[in-house]
Amino acid sequence: MPRPVAVVTGASRGIGRAIALRLSSGYDIVAVARASGELDTLTREIEGRGGSCRPRVADVTDVAAVQGALGDVDADVLVNNAGVGALKPMLELTRDEWRRMVDVNFNALYDVTRIVLPRMMRRRSGHVVMIGSIAGRGAFVGGSCYAATKHAVSAFAECLMLEVRDEGVKVSVVNPGSVATHFSDRSSDESWKLAPEAVADAVASVLETPPNVLIHRLEVRTLTVPHKR
Ligand code: NAP
Repeated sequence: MPRPVAVVTGASRGIGRAIALRLSSGYDIVAVARASGELDTLTREIEGRGGSCRPRVADVTDVAAVQGALGDVDADVLVNNAGVGALKPMLELTRDEWRRMVDVNFNALYDVTRIVLPRMMRRRSGHVVMIGSIAGRGAFVGGSCYAATKHAVSAFAECLMLEVRDEGVKVSVVNPGSVATHFSDRSSDESWKLAPEAVADAVASVLETPPNVLIHRLEVRTLTVPHKR
């Protein structure tokens, strides 16, 4: 009996890597990112655990690369995780940084989802999970573009959920607080942040609901933050 297939974007490190590892006990993984070496290391780790992983090197902002990477994949789960953040005051953001965040965090959702979703609709089953952020429902200094992209992710997820729920496809958005990854400056103490594995567990719990139950939005935070110590 073939196992279900889960596509994870941004699987080369951080939260996406943790999600791919966490899901690999129940799914065949298709791992997407630009860093082929890291994807190969992930593949070996998953295979070492008795799982299966197909590494697909692609930049999610390159529609031809995304088509080449995912055009032949019949996915049961899609985790749209790839993301970048340049967190600084608006006037210090370069035009390239602004456009890159919009392209990776938001515009890429169009191409990746559009390639994977039709097969889910035809099968009348599947689950699309976006990795948003608590920045997607609030504001902070330095987040003018990043938070805006995550607000957009949240709106996209809810609209898509309303469009495809009757076709048997679930759509969820998982919003983490601060996670200890390479995403942000690691010079400060990161010991208080969530481990990427905690976000992976949250994604797994969203996927494990009964067929007629949908957790559409989930926020996962650390219990304590530094200023409270
Ligand atoms: P990370 O450690 O920097 O990992 C980012 C991942 O995205 C990498 O695998 C990277 O792979 C991939 N990626 C970036 N640009 C890409 C592109 N153009 N094409 C394909 N893949 C690309 O960051 P992270 O913390 O795990 O972040 C993952 C997601 O969680 C993001 O959506 C982020 O907004 C969200 N998030 C993070 C935090 C946090 O505190 N860390 C909090 C809330 C939400 P390659 O470089 O190999 O392509």
